[in-house]
Amino acid sequence: MTDIIIIGAGPAGMTAAIYARRASKSVLVLEAMSYGGQIINTPDIENYPVAAHISGFEFAQNVYNQAKALGAEFKFEKAVEIRDSGDTKTVVTPKNEYEAKAVIIATGSENRKLGVADEDKLVGRGVSYCATCDGAFFRKKAVAVVGGGNTALEDALYLADIAEKVYLIHRRDRFRGEDATVEKLKQRENVEFVYNSVVTKLNADKKLESVEVTDKQGNVRTLEVSGLFVAVGRIPENQNFASVIELDGAGYAVAAENCRTKTPGVFVAGDNRVKDVRQLVTATADGAVAATEAVKYINS
Ligand code: NAP
Repeated sequence: MTDIIIIGAGPAGMTAAIYARRASKSVLVLEAMSYGGQIINTPDIENYPVAAHISGFEFAQNVYNQAKALGAEFKFEKAVEIRDSGDTKTVVTPKNEYEAKAVIIATGSENRKLGVADEDKLVGRGVSYCATCDGAFFRKKAVAVVGGGNTALEDALYLADIAEKVYLIHRRDRFRGEDATVEKLKQRENVEFVYNSVVTKLNADKKLESVEVTDKQGNVRTLEVSGLFVAVGRIPENQNFASVIELDGAGYAVAAENCRTKTPGVFVAGDNRVKDVRQLVTATADGAVAATEAVKYINS
């Protein structure tokens, strides 16, 4: 039996692995995709102490190497269920069942869709949820970014260096993301802000050709773009674990700052937890807290 199974190898999960290993607990990290989580899509992190600039990919790689060097084991399998039998927790994947004394759920979140017709059909044919992954396909072309949070702002800034023109479409006239990034965008001549508007139609033949946006007065405008980058937030990935954790109305795991859930021995860390500030620094902080609490739980 492993001491602590950590579900999710994003910044929260991998930081938890570091803390748990330093407390001499055996650690298995289960990750459905690849390590790093959503931060690997951030081209330049400027708000994490120590490094004035670091790419999300490099950040993730460093934390992964640190956790591995300390002896954390990683397996790339998707956890689909946690069964609680008191002192033993069983984490189920499509291939295996793993037993642990404590489990930390650090699954983060997945992309929220716009919900406009043909959105799914056009993924890979103009619609993307990752500017750093797909931006290069739109060199010297016109693109649009939808959203008003830090992801949308950073995506727009990244794309402004690649694309000929970037429309930033937001449903309000104030951004949720940082003013500092908004100011940088305002300096870019090829960025146009499209406020108080939502995307109402995607026009495509084989590939995206334009998007229709409708403003609050009902005026419709067609933007000729070959790329649409959707950055309208994320949905917490907690549904598989609803039998052992309480979820709020939006699907976030209810846990206090000590990361303890309603089930003793099951902890939650990172963006999938109910909290006010979702940042890289708060995700790694959660990882440290959850691992420390899990160690306390096992030793008690
Ligand atoms: P977010 O902060 O939740 O912002 C989502 C944005 O999408 C909001 O502006 C929202 O509009 C808009 N939106 C939601 N549903 C929509 C819809 N159906 N149609 C049109 N617009 C819609 O999400 P995020 O930008 O992905 O960021 C997630 C978290 O990660 C945030 O806490 C963010 O600060 C953090 N983050 C941090 C960094 C960094 O530290 N460098 C980088 C990226 C992200 P409203 O504003 O009107 O609600």
